Amino acid sequence: VFVVFEGGEGAGKSTQLAALADRLRGQGRDVVVTREPGATGIGERIRSLVLETSGDDAPSPRAEALLYAADRAHHVATVVRPALIRGAVVISDRYVDSSLAYQGAGRTLPVQEVSWLSSWATGGLKPDLVVLLDVDPHTGRSRVDSRNQGADRLEAESLAFHERVRYAFLDLAAADPKRYLVLDASRPVEEITAAVARRVDEFLVD
Ligand code: C5P
Repeated sequence: VFVVFEGGEGAGKSTQLAALADRLRGQGRDVVVTREPGATGIGERIRSLVLETSGDDAPSPRAEALLYAADRAHHVATVVRPALIRGAVVISDRYVDSSLAYQGAGRTLPVQEVSWLSSWATGGLKPDLVVLLDVDPHTGRSRVDSRNQGADRLEAESLAFHERVRYAFLDLAAADPKRYLVLDASRPVEEITAAVARRVDEFLVD
C-alpha cells in the first residue's frame, strides 16, 4: 500500500506522517517512511540543488522539473517499488502531485507535460491514497516562519505562487475523489490523525 501526504508549506505533513507511521508500526506492520525530494543519496544532492540555490544559481523552471523528476525516478526505483514488492506500507512526504502543483501550476509549466514527465519517471506508479492537508498560504507561511525553516526560500516565492499551488492540489483531489482524503490543516492535530487513521484502515483490512 502506497500512501502519500501532500500540502503546502506549514500544513503539518511531517507530524501527521509520523503519527500514521507510529500507529501502523504499533500494529506490527512493515512501514517505510520516505520523502521527495531527498530520500536517497542522489536525492539528497538533487534536494540541495533545487532547494539551496537562489538567484542566478537556481535552476530554470524546466531544469527544476527535470531535477525533481530525476529524484523521483531514482526514489521509485530504489526505495518505493522494492518496499511495495515486499509488502510494506510506504508513506511518502510528497510525490507526483507536488510536481503538478509546484512546477506546473506554481512555475506555470504546462501541467500535462509535467504529468507526462512524472509518469515516465515513475513508470506509472500511482499512490493508493493521497492525504491532502489543505492550508491557506497565509497560515502555512506563518507556521513555517515561526519555526524559522525555509523562510528565506519562501520569501522569494509570492503568496500568489502558493495560492496557485494550493488550488492545483485541490483540483487534483476533486478530479479523483476516491484516491484522495482532503483535510483542513487548521483542524486540531488529533482530529486530523484520527481521520487519516480511519481512511488508511479501509485499505488495510486483511
Ligand atoms: O517536503 P518539504 O515541505 O520540505 O518541501 C520542500 C519544498 O520543496 C517545498 O516547500 C516546495 O517549495 C519545494 N518542492 C517543489 N516541488 C516539488 C517538491 C517540493 O517545489 N515537486
